[in-house]
Amino acid sequence: MSNILVVNSTRAETRVALIEDGILSEIYMERRRDRGVAGNIYKGRVLRVLPGMQAAFIDVAQEKAGFLHVSDFYNFQKDINHLEGDGETLPPPSRGKISRKINISDCMKEGEEILVQVAKEPMGTKGARLTGHISLPGRYVVFMPTVSHIGISRRIGSERERKRLRRVVEENRPPGTGFIVRTVSEDISDEKILRDMELLVKLWTDMLDRFNEVKSPYLLNEEPDLLLRAARDLFTTDIEELIVDDKQAYKRVSEFTSHYMPGFSDNISLYSATEPIFDAYGIEVEIERALAREVPLESGGSLVFDKTEALTAVDVNTGKFVGSSSDLEETILRTNLEAAEEVVYQLRLRNIGGIIIIDFIDMEDARNRERVYRTLEAALKKDRVTTNALAISDFGLVEMTRKRVRESLVQYMCDPCPHCDGRGQVKTRETVAAEIVREIRRQAPLMAGKTIYVDAQPEVISYLLNVERGTIDELEKVFDRKINLRGQRGKHVEYFALSDSRS
Ligand SMILES: [Zn+2]
Repeated sequence: MSNILVVNSTRAETRVALIEDGILSEIYMERRRDRGVAGNIYKGRVLRVLPGMQAAFIDVAQEKAGFLHVSDFYNFQKDINHLEGDGETLPPPSRGKISRKINISDCMKEGEEILVQVAKEPMGTKGARLTGHISLPGRYVVFMPTVSHIGISRRIGSERERKRLRRVVEENRPPGTGFIVRTVSEDISDEKILRDMELLVKLWTDMLDRFNEVKSPYLLNEEPDLLLRAARDLFTTDIEELIVDDKQAYKRVSEFTSHYMPGFSDNISLYSATEPIFDAYGIEVEIERALAREVPLESGGSLVFDKTEALTAVDVNTGKFVGSSSDLEETILRTNLEAAEEVVYQLRLRNIGGIIIIDFIDMEDARNRERVYRTLEAALKKDRVTTNALAISDFGLVEMTRKRVRESLVQYMCDPCPHCDGRGQVKTRETVAAEIVREIRRQAPLMAGKTIYVDAQPEVISYLLNVERGTIDELEKVFDRKINLRGQRGKHVEYFALSDSRS
């Protein structure tokens, strides 16, 4: 079996699914409407310098001004002015991050124009977080013009290969600049890596040239959209095919590929069947499964995912057990082993980040606990996101962290339930009926009219009419009012309203 990338592209959104050996393992979505700005590079204008905060607000053509802290400041201005514009000269080596002792007011003045990149998306009332330390991701390497540094992806294991890659970069980088070699570079020829480096350096010098020509605020370079990022970052040599269901998207990704990663364009195809592409590949079903709270396991047990403010808890449950108690430990072990793999699969698919607590079913035998932990560890190796799992406790608990790189699938696709405000529970009709009775007692003495109108959901009303009939009769007598119960279809089960007028 093999790996493929399936792309569903519509006017409103792009979805990319990575299928490994016939199994959906990662899903990425981007709606045109909320395309981010992270990674974008701007010629910005200093709006305000805040010496107290050691920061500045920068106009980057966004609704809210961007925020730049002095520690992220880098001065290109002098260097840019010295540039010949021939694409050869680059800024001198950076002195590293500027220390906190330097004052922001010495770095920039209001009205000054500076080159910045968006490090973090704007969130809520906060504007984008900016940095002067640019990084430009390419296919095989990431270019960092402001730091003299060479990094090799930790996921490339072979010492020989690491040496080769370091040599390629060392010999070809412009003095004082930095490159990070990405995992996909493993076993890629010197020429291809060199070409990628050259493209990025050219992109960078072109940007510096343009900086002098345009008026701020100005978008100098836009991070590509999901379609092209997927081609750049996910379309590796072990992907047999990238299949896309939209002609325009097909054209775009083919052009991009033939320019940046020649050789790969032959493996791109256009899907033209009438069945929706995500249905044809069974992806839609898996997405539904990845949104569910409970995931059934083949061994009969299940996983239950619960998210709190601070962490995600994954509970492993046993199925119904039939057999002798000597088989019990064996059944539990089997369920836990399956769970260990499924948890990791779901974490990747759901894209859950932060602290995660996995509560495996208790096992008597320490060796079995160890086996479960090792299975978990092995499964985590396949995750391209950085994870760290602590040892399994005597209670079968594993604490782990997973780097938060983007919104989780649920965050992206769902809102908190409007019925329960995300609690996962709503009050029973008995509870609501009791609340109504208390509210009548509270308000009836203050009401002018002869009739009290009570509106609530039909289920609640029918409960009051049937089970609490006696209470209602008593209230009518005590307060000398008529109580008119009115069922309101489509209302929330917890909704009710009292009034002394008909409307
Ligand atoms: Zn709910």
